[in-house]
Amino acid sequence: MRPLVIVGPSGVGKGTLIAMLQREFPDKFGFSVSHTTRGPRPGEVNGVHYNFVDKQAMERDIANGKFLEHAHVHQNIYGTSFAAVKSVTKAGKICLLDIDVQGAELVKKSGMDAAYVFIAPPSMEELERRLRGRGTEAEDAVLKRLENARTEMKSKDVAGFYDAVIVNDDVDKAYMALKEVIERHVDSRPALSTDQLLTRYGPVAFGIACAIAIAARVFMNGGKL
Ligand code: ADP
Ligand code: 5GP
Repeated sequence: MRPLVIVGPSGVGKGTLIAMLQREFPDKFGFSVSHTTRGPRPGEVNGVHYNFVDKQAMERDIANGKFLEHAHVHQNIYGTSFAAVKSVTKAGKICLLDIDVQGAELVKKSGMDAAYVFIAPPSMEELERRLRGRGTEAEDAVLKRLENARTEMKSKDVAGFYDAVIVNDDVDKAYMALKEVIERHVDSRPALSTDQLLTRYGPVAFGIACAIAIAARVFMNGGKL
């Protein structure tokens, strides 16, 4: 099955929805445990919520090619290691990635066949309430996250990037919507390898390239082939 990439501003409820999925379907979904240079919040467990590492170790592992993607988010480095995704898919589970917009763009560029969903807040005021209500960030970190949220929100309108945008107003409704997205874009779509992608879309790409070449030749020859 294709991995599911879940994107959205900090405090919107991504972690809450992911926890609901894992609670209801513990054998079906596995979380890709990212690396981060930020410190753990109370209750966060190393190796479960994140792999908490220092900047030097993270930069070394990035240089050694261990990461599928990484990004500087809210003044820290976050990244998805190849090993994190592999450990979920090896267990036969659907891999859930909770990553930021930059990370999602990089995963898409990597060619990994995945589904993408953006979780949006009902309003920026409500996002701020949730971020502050969670009580995990100091004031300057809250302000930084809110500032970044405004940029991240623009990403949901990029045509064709996301398979779905879900507004997390009522959490149960958002969860139902997420399960529908999974049915449509994950359950019914086995992951394609690079070879399979080439077999499926290669002939179409070749056809388009030929048509462009012929049109260019006709144009250059003043209307003759
Ligand atoms: P994220 O993982 O996107 O940073 P969280 O899942 O940690 O966000 O949620 C941030 C806060 O908002 C948490 O306190 C959570 O309980 C709360 N929350 C999540 N969804 C909703 C919702 N639909 N309505 C109200 N509060 C919510
Ligand atoms: P938090 O510090 O609140 O756990 O996460 C902050 C932001 O970092 C969130 O938007 C989250 O999705 C993002 N994030 C978490 N892990 C990764 C990762 O591995 N890669 C990227 N690019 N972003 C991540």
